[in-house]
Amino acid sequence: MASSRSSSSSARVAEPDDRAFVLRVSPYGESDAVVKLLTERRGIVSAIGKRAKRRMVLEPFHTLRVSLAKGGGELFSLRAAEVGQARIGLLSRAEALDAAGACTRWTRSLCPEHTEEKVVFSALERALDMLDVGAAVAPLETAFGLVLLESLGFALELDGCARCGRPRPRGKAALLAGRHGGVVCAACRAGSEAGYTEIAGAVLDLAADDPWALRDGGLAPIVAAAVEARTP
Ligand SMILES: [Zn+2]
Repeated sequence: MASSRSSSSSARVAEPDDRAFVLRVSPYGESDAVVKLLTERRGIVSAIGKRAKRRMVLEPFHTLRVSLAKGGGELFSLRAAEVGQARIGLLSRAEALDAAGACTRWTRSLCPEHTEEKVVFSALERALDMLDVGAAVAPLETAFGLVLLESLGFALELDGCARCGRPRPRGKAALLAGRHGGVVCAACRAGSEAGYTEIAGAVLDLAADDPWALRDGGLAPIVAAAVEARTP
């Protein structure tokens, strides 16, 4: 397939045809690398980059412009990668780096390969953009985790009991556990509060309506536990 192309096409610089975030880089041989990417058009793909160490910038948290081609088997061929949007502000803040690392790791462990993930791509882009300009990390990590879980069909139940479905009236505080999928009512908990965290009603309402508007980080550990519970 590729060998039928004329030699002039391989001499040209490959034009970027997708945008991507690096999720993992594994060195391969002397100078190549196998890269796991979240791409805007193709979802998660693994690709081999020839002479990647010398030719490409493969760093996480920046938006890359990449050129991908179908490889022989499962792996794509990464023909070019350049930084489209750098996020230098994020790199200088340890807590922002930690949060960006968590969002990237969650994406890598929860999203299946070769499935379109446009919602996750734009959520990751939004989270990284906000981390880059100095936004508080815990609410952002929460917002990204909620969007990720929802887009994969694992939405955290915030408006009612995750077990029996009994509704939570708006404005009413509730006890949640990430590993139990959200709010759990007193009857389903059999009165026990061990392992649950009480979250204010206004925070739960906002998290359900518009998680990116959260300013409170109280849900962060619950969301992290929910992601963990879904991680294969
Ligand atoms: Zn219940």
